[in-house]
Amino acid sequence: DELISQIAAGEVVERPASVVRELVDNALDAGAAQITVRLLAGGVRLIAVEDDGSGIPEPELATALKRHATSKIASLADLESVGTMGFRGEALAAISSVSELSLLSRTAAQPNAFLLDGRSGELRPAARGVGTSVEVRELFFATPARRKFLKTDATELAHCIEAVRRHALARPDVGFAIWHEGKLVEQWRRCEGSSAQAHDRRLADVLGEDFLERSVLVEHRSGNLTVRGRAGVPDAARSRSDWQYCWVNGRYVRDKVIGHAARSAYEDVLHGQRQPVYALHVAVDPARIDVNVHPTKIEVRFRDSREVHQAVRHAVENALAAPRA
Ligand code: ADP
Ligand code: MG
Repeated sequence: DELISQIAAGEVVERPASVVRELVDNALDAGAAQITVRLLAGGVRLIAVEDDGSGIPEPELATALKRHATSKIASLADLESVGTMGFRGEALAAISSVSELSLLSRTAAQPNAFLLDGRSGELRPAARGVGTSVEVRELFFATPARRKFLKTDATELAHCIEAVRRHALARPDVGFAIWHEGKLVEQWRRCEGSSAQAHDRRLADVLGEDFLERSVLVEHRSGNLTVRGRAGVPDAARSRSDWQYCWVNGRYVRDKVIGHAARSAYEDVLHGQRQPVYALHVAVDPARIDVNVHPTKIEVRFRDSREVHQAVRHAVENALAAPRA
């Protein structure tokens, strides 16, 4: 069972950034308003994620670490319309099989928190406000072959920051802070105001004021499908060529359909004058996508990918072609 867990872990946990992504997913699923990530040695020595979400009830702490333990879906039918980031109940089990994991959590109904040591299974009362802290130490300590594949601390740190950036761009209503070796390296405050304004504010905070100024608003609706976000215009000089961000129903994904549609729009309107840069949020009826395609949930499958392609292409074309204010 230990071996099976470690093999499964290999699919979910590739490097510290994979752990960061899963733990932040969980914090968001728990309704957190503020999420703090603390790292040591690029995350290899420590990844700690603290949230002010709903917490894990004491009786559920131990089961949260078991494989396929999820509180988020109860049936196969629920899998047809997943509204949460998690649903496979795999991440904590996988991570704890390749690290020293502890869970410290308190719900609003409890007078105190409880701390679960993943290694020993020991559970004891502890102090904490409502919410959850997950600590992951010495990633891959028992699998040196995997540990060898990790890059320098600086590179692993950059990947961890990128993982949080993807969440932060999708959730301006949540505050994020990242600490490395005791120093605050990134901080994105919660954005008030209407959703479009909040998204713009967060975009400027995360990708820079420059990107916001040299981009156009993308807004498109067809049927139940919406595409919103920003697309960089030709003079977006200082934006980086690898800024092609897309989210489907709030989940960051790498998607060929969306990528191709956006590229086509740039070719049509700007005739290849520049590399597409964009941050696009696609919202579809959850029943029309399959999110259970890949263990890391980085890919989705659309029931009607032509519909998505057309919508994204139109959305970006219209935005790029419109006269700029
Ligand atoms: P999944 O997210 O797919 O359900 P995970 O292994 O990531 O599976 O987490 C297992 C369970 O632990 C979750 O379903 C949830 O009930 C609980 N959990 C994990 N992290 C948190 C958190 N930060 N706040 C509240 N509950 C959490
Ligand atoms: Mg999860």
